[in-house]
Amino acid sequence: MRLTVEETGRAARFFADGIKRMASRPVRIMEVCGTHTVAIFRAGIRQLLPPEVELVSGPGCPVCVTPNEYIDTAIACSRCPDTVIATFGDMLRVPGSQSSLMAEKAQGADIRIVYSPLDSLRIARENPGKKVVFLAVGFETTAPTAAATVLQAEQQGLENFFVLSAHKLAPPALKAILAAPDSRIDGFLLPGHTAAISGLAPYRFVAEEHRVPAVVTGFEALDILQAIYLLLKQIAAGQPVLVNQYRRVVKSAGNPAAMRVLNQVYRPVDTVWRGFGVIAGSGLRLTAAYERYDAAAALPLVKAVSREPAGCRCGEVLRGLIVPAGCPHFGQSCTPEHPVGACMVSVEGACAAWYKYGQGRWHYE
Ligand code: SF4
Repeated sequence: MRLTVEETGRAARFFADGIKRMASRPVRIMEVCGTHTVAIFRAGIRQLLPPEVELVSGPGCPVCVTPNEYIDTAIACSRCPDTVIATFGDMLRVPGSQSSLMAEKAQGADIRIVYSPLDSLRIARENPGKKVVFLAVGFETTAPTAAATVLQAEQQGLENFFVLSAHKLAPPALKAILAAPDSRIDGFLLPGHTAAISGLAPYRFVAEEHRVPAVVTGFEALDILQAIYLLLKQIAAGQPVLVNQYRRVVKSAGNPAAMRVLNQVYRPVDTVWRGFGVIAGSGLRLTAAYERYDAAAALPLVKAVSREPAGCRCGEVLRGLIVPAGCPHFGQSCTPEHPVGACMVSVEGACAAWYKYGQGRWHYE
């Protein structure tokens, strides 16, 4: 049901007033997803909240959590003879340990921007003498499409298509945040699009095991405001549960067809996240039946030892320990034009969003 402008205004006022009324002590809410970070800024939601309610970003920007180790491996791939790298555009500018895909492209590497994994199949068909490596980055939302692309490669008999998987699962990162001794999160705005694929079950542990309120949230301003209201209500009542605010899209069982494809092609593995290190069972690697498409296994890759950018505090930003303005590089030596770390590169990166919309005006630690 679509609300009129007047109804939307009334609902927004109701939620904003309710949040103010219930905010009797400082609470820290994590918006897990980068899309939420941007939506919160664009809608001016921070300005509607009382000072007691603090919003911090989380590990839900796929480019941001992809560690330099992966960027360096992708760069090593791009240096292999007769190899084409197919990637989403925002991966290009992420600084690796010594170079970036953008710098490699400028020096002649064949790196092409794609808008869907399926574009890489076309490139593979048109270039039978070359190996085409798709950089598969993203969460439950994008992984099924990448998995379906592998199935199509098999159907089409393509032998020159490969996937370098950095796919990640969101719930294990939340487990890592909640298990950390420095965790100070009072409630989670959970990403509606990953839950639309996986369903609600993988997120139940947040309230059931850790007694932290959680709301699966849509991406309209009113969705987010309502979700914050629902979190405050749970916090005030001391009764943490998992609430699905985004019922018009997220079904309790998720999308079983997408999960079937995902589980056919990928298996969970331990993997490295920027700022977290290894998180058990949080990555996706091709199953044995599709291992021939795995670039990491099929291509002879030699890469240098990886290191994260000196002084970059992306890791703390992604764990909700500081806001971007708490990093001394923010807006000084690190800007979207000259990013030091991945969080300043992606349009969904917390540092990029704070720079674009906030310019550090909400500086608190
Ligand atoms: S402002 Fe730049 S250097 Fe600082 S945490 Fe963000 S990306 Fe890293």
